[in-house]
Order: sequence, then C-alpha cells, then structure tokens
Amino acid sequence: MNNSKINISKRLNECLSTQIFDLLIKCGEFTERNSASLFLVGGCLRDILLNKRPKDIDLTLVNGDSNLVQNLSEYLGGKIIFKSQFFTYKLKVNNNIIDITEARKEVYSSPGSLPKITSKCSIDDDLYRRDFTINSMALSLNPASLGNIIDPFNGINDINNKNIRIIHDNSFSDDPTRILRAIRYSIRLNFNIDNQTLSKINEFKSNINSITGFRIKNELIKILREDSRSKILLYLDTLKILDIIQPNINLNTKINEIFDNFQFKDEYIDDLILIGILTYNLNIQNIIYFAEKLYLDSIFIKTLRDTNEIKQLLQNVKLDKLKNSSIYKQLYKYKYEAIIINRYFSNENVCQKIDLYLNKLKDTIPPLNGKEIIALGAKPGPIIKEIMDYLLHEKLDGNIKNKDQAKIKATQILNK
Ligand code: ATP
Repeated sequence: MNNSKINISKRLNECLSTQIFDLLIKCGEFTERNSASLFLVGGCLRDILLNKRPKDIDLTLVNGDSNLVQNLSEYLGGKIIFKSQFFTYKLKVNNNIIDITEARKEVYSSPGSLPKITSKCSIDDDLYRRDFTINSMALSLNPASLGNIIDPFNGINDINNKNIRIIHDNSFSDDPTRILRAIRYSIRLNFNIDNQTLSKINEFKSNINSITGFRIKNELIKILREDSRSKILLYLDTLKILDIIQPNINLNTKINEIFDNFQFKDEYIDDLILIGILTYNLNIQNIIYFAEKLYLDSIFIKTLRDTNEIKQLLQNVKLDKLKNSSIYKQLYKYKYEAIIINRYFSNENVCQKIDLYLNKLKDTIPPLNGKEIIALGAKPGPIIKEIMDYLLHEKLDGNIKNKDQAKIKATQILNK
C-alpha cells in the first residue's frame, strides 16, 4: 500500500456499512459548516487501512466543543448517551454508536502518573498523545479535505511493514499500559514489534507495577477478550511480563487449550470466567493478592474464592459418585461462574454431574411452600425451612414425585 495510492472512499465503502458511511459524511458536512473539523482516528482508521471492518467508530473533533456535539447529535436525529469529563461523547443515531472526542493534549507530570488533559488543541497534538504509529493517524471527514490522511509518524509505512512502533522514546515510561497494548496488537494483527520499541519494553516493563491496578485490569481484560488470548499471554510470559503482573501464573497446556477453545460472548460473565481460568493454578493467598492489586470488585473476588473452594472440594469428593441431593448440597452455595470455571478442568463424568446440577438440580424448587407446610400444622419458625429443605432433597433424589407425596412426608416429620 502506498500513501498516495489509497483509494480511501473505496476502502470506506468496503469496510463500513452504507448507513455508517452516510452518517460520517453528514457529520463532516455539519462540522465544516460550523467552522470545525472532524477526523476518523485511531484503531478505526488503522483497521480500515488494513481492509478490516472496524469494531468502533472513533472521531476526533478539532475547534469544536460540547455544544457542537449536542447540535450535531440533534441534526442527525440521535442523542448523546454518554459524556465524560475528559471531553468524550458517545452518540447513538438509529442503532449506530459513534464515539467523539474533542482533540486533546496529554501532559505527564511524572512517569506513569495520570496525564493532565487539555482540549482545544490541533489534530497533530492529539495524534502525538497516542500509543503507536499505526494508531496515530487521522482521516479528514470535512468535505473540503475529505479522505486526506494525516500521518505524522509514518503509520502507513508501519502498516505496510507490519510494524508496531512507539511514536517517541518516553512512550512506555509515560504510560506502561502501552507495553501490554503493544503485545496485544502484535499478536492480534500478526505484526512485529520494532527492535527499538522492544528494547524500550524491556527497559520499562517493571514500571507496569507503578500503574494503578484498575488500568492493569482493563488491559488484561482486553487481552482475555481477544481470540488469540493464549498466544498473547505466552508472549507476555516469554518477555517476563506476566510475572510482573502476577508471579506464579502457570500457563500450562490445559489452560492454553481452554483459552484456545473459548468463545467470548458475554462481557461481564466471560470476563469473570477468563480471569478465573487464568488464576486457576494460584493458591488462595496469591488469588487474593492478585484480586486486591487489580481492584477487582466483590463479585470477581467471590467468584475467585468460590472457584478455589470448589477446586479443593472436587479434589476430595467424587462428585460423579454422589446422589442428586448430595451434589446439590455440595454446590448450591457457589456462584455459577465458579462452577463453570471448574467444569473446564474436570473430567467427562464430573462434567456430566455439573451439567445436571446447572441445568436441572439448581433450579428445582421445594414441592411445598411455607404456607402449605403451616397448613399441615407446623408452627412458624426454623422448622419450616428444615422441612422445605428435606422435601427438596427428597424430590431431587426422585423420592417425591408430587404434592400429595410431599404432604405425606411432611406430616410424618411433624408427627415425630
Ligand atoms: P481495539 O481495536 O482493541 O478497540 P483501538 O485501537 O480502537 O483497539 P482503544 O483502546 O479503543 O483501541 O483506543 C482507541 C485509540 O486511543 C487507540 O487507537 C489509540 O490511538 C488511543 N489509545 C488508547 N489507549 C492508549 C494509551 N494507553 N496510550 C496512548 N493512546 C492510547
């Protein structure tokens, strides 16, 4: 691909739906009429140049402000569904989502600290704050310059040469999360990390521990959501970066196999499951250390604790030899995701029992409710719950098939 030879409107047509394409043209026209400029930027432009359909539509606005974005969304018949203090907006127009950011400049007061952000800057300043040359290009959407590409760091060249390259030597010291991003892009796009960039990765990798756990978590989750997650993690391991995030994560063949076959569907649930798989071989102390370091929320922590408890339980109890009520008693208090995580590491017989539990036993309800038991003569109190549990277990084991049988059993207990 040569800079001057890209037929960008053909590319845009191929990679974007007609609806999005028309929307972008309208956005550019409106912005120009209001004396501002609009650009397609970042991963979105990178993917289009790679002839791929972009995941998100990311635009940068120069010389515009929140009023202009508000007016634009009204003009398009959409609405702003999210607005942050960092000059970013999410617009929904029909069913299309467009992310708009005011061009901004970031100044790092000390390495690894959060940058001071200022808006009202040029597109060049905005591109300079970005991570890699391939993500630091902008395509004009203004009618007067439609399709012109601004490429100050030779990103197109790096796309041609399949290169991941930082745009300045302080990039990783400014923001070490970029180290994780470099490795993720290199595997996802099948690009090489340029030598100078790789040596900077080695120089600054220990700085990963200086960034907040919250940001490490975000990047780790992005890695786990990728199809090639196991290759990315192996690369991190080879570069001794995984150890910096969490020592003793053991990427054995089983974990790699699970990761390779994992089909990512649900953002929150699958994030929990993937983190649980990644940390499966850690002991509970390390799991808690990892969870606290990454500021995982209480649901994550409960899932990881449950996962570890079920793992111990399955080492001591032969689930496949138990009757239904016992399987229920062993598993009912654990989170669904923790059970699923353990299922990945279980043999076929245990998997069958786990499936039986998840598909049937878990949702079985007691054959009589509290009122029905009181109607049989029970006094309100803890006995009601005890009888309900007993009847539930009998039902799970097939000893109670209907309400009449349940009433007979309950009456027998009450008469004891
Ligand atoms: P993906 O294809 O995974 O969504 P993306 O390139 O769109 O990747 P995002 O994380 O959505 O990545 O970020 C959008 C853009 O913002 C990037 O292309 C990059 O230009 C910039 N960016 C994101 N994170 C950083 C960072 N830590 N440092 C510098 N620039 C960043």
